[in-house]
Amino acid sequence: MPSLTMLAIGLLAAAAISFAVVVIRFNRKRRAIVRAAAAATESQLEAIYTLVEGSSTLPAAGHVLARTNRRSTAPGCIIPIPEELPGFPWAGRRIEVAVAKEVEYRFIEPAPGAPSLLGKVVRPVRVPRYRTGRAGTTRNAFAPEKYLAACPELRAALAEVSPAYPTELLAYLLCIGGETFEFEPINQARIGTSAAWVQSPEHQNCGECGKRMALILQLPGTAISRKHLHEGTFYLFGCAQHPEQTSSVAQFG
Ligand SMILES: [Zn+2]
Repeated sequence: MPSLTMLAIGLLAAAAISFAVVVIRFNRKRRAIVRAAAAATESQLEAIYTLVEGSSTLPAAGHVLARTNRRSTAPGCIIPIPEELPGFPWAGRRIEVAVAKEVEYRFIEPAPGAPSLLGKVVRPVRVPRYRTGRAGTTRNAFAPEKYLAACPELRAALAEVSPAYPTELLAYLLCIGGETFEFEPINQARIGTSAAWVQSPEHQNCGECGKRMALILQLPGTAISRKHLHEGTFYLFGCAQHPEQTSSVAQFG
């Protein structure tokens, strides 16, 4: 009869092997999705993002920056704030994000061009808003599963790029901060909407009127810096009534 020690060693070995199998499967799946996304044509990605936006007819309160396969020659990180956001006084302006010891945000003169982060063009996708259970209330929806539930055609457009993993592909496309297919809100780059916090929320209040500020930008560190800040997510807030009042926050995992 095997001793208890032998039994424990056997169980541990079995657990280690099954864990290794899970990791290998995860990495294989991740590589398949990254490859599929990199091989997608511009029109395939455009079709996907148009369907996400079209999954709601309610006016959007902001954008999420999604992957494209286009390169940019613009240096650093430049994010034009789309014109179309109602009640968003920074609409139409451009924000340059400079990463030195800290992350700095500079509002610069507007000029045409797509947002670009470290040589990659990203596509602002309007975040769909859906009605909640309570009458008259609507909410930003960020999760890929919600878009697929609201828009059946979306699955076919995704399956054209990745037949095996359509939902996971969408998570990868919409979370530019992580090289993974798991939907992680802190890996999203957002304009407007609301912050996904790494730690507990640090809401900012206006220095002039005391009201809670709105989210202007959320940026995962990996999207704005090749070396530093990889563990962090960076936020810029501002007061809609006093647009010159802004406040930045960094949180680390
Ligand atoms: Zn204010």
